[in-house]
Amino acid sequence: MPAPRIYKTEAIVLRQRKLGEADKIVTLYTPNYGKLEAVAKGVRRPRSRLAGHLEVLTYTSAMLAQGRNLDVVTQAQTIESFAPLREDLHRLSRALYAAELVDRFSPEGAEGYHIFHLLLATLRRLAVGASADVVLRFFEMQLLSLAGFQPQLQRCLGCQRPLTPVPNYFSPAVGGVLCPSCGSGTVASRPLSVTALKVLRLLQDGGFADVQRVRIAPALAQELEFHLRAYVIHVLERDVRSAAFIDRLRREGMWEPAGVSD
Ligand SMILES: [Zn+2]
Repeated sequence: MPAPRIYKTEAIVLRQRKLGEADKIVTLYTPNYGKLEAVAKGVRRPRSRLAGHLEVLTYTSAMLAQGRNLDVVTQAQTIESFAPLREDLHRLSRALYAAELVDRFSPEGAEGYHIFHLLLATLRRLAVGASADVVLRFFEMQLLSLAGFQPQLQRCLGCQRPLTPVPNYFSPAVGGVLCPSCGSGTVASRPLSVTALKVLRLLQDGGFADVQRVRIAPALAQELEFHLRAYVIHVLERDVRSAAFIDRLRREGMWEPAGVSD
């Protein structure tokens, strides 16, 4: 929906970039207006009253005025700063990954109520020390669904038959699971264990509380990360602007096709 000339909104700061001598452009994710970019004037000056309330990953309450090109942040007040995240590099990098995925998956101006609340819940979970693996897998699966890329986990995408509880295949290219006869030998499909399929379905259909109750052994955690990350990358690779982001995931070891021999 179009914003009025001066409006107040809650927002999570996804990223910032420098503008001119003293300003920044901040990318905000808001419940009612989705993703938007705005100018934060003077925030690179030492005495800026705005700067501390517009740090990346801050949940803030902001007042914006419509500008000719970009809107301008006129006031901001931190609601939650997620301080524990900033003291732990491992958690911080996961939180930044979540923010960047939201950025990548969200066209500007698309309504963002559910994605906003998913990101907020994810930052809170990471900040209170919930298992980062479980938090991120749940986040990835839910974000894929909200963005319209829900993988098909109930029937084989080759023969359309319901999947049976045997080892199947996961194929990012076809958008979900293939049965043993359709999946074996198919390019870019990888074995999917019975347990991994169960957990993927729970990540898709269950609540976070259900997912958190499942005991996930390290090998299963790796398998889940592999399949979901492969699917996320597959969707993003169709978007050329994501190339640099994917390169960075690879450099930072957040995307390593472990267990892939070819
Ligand atoms: Zn099949």
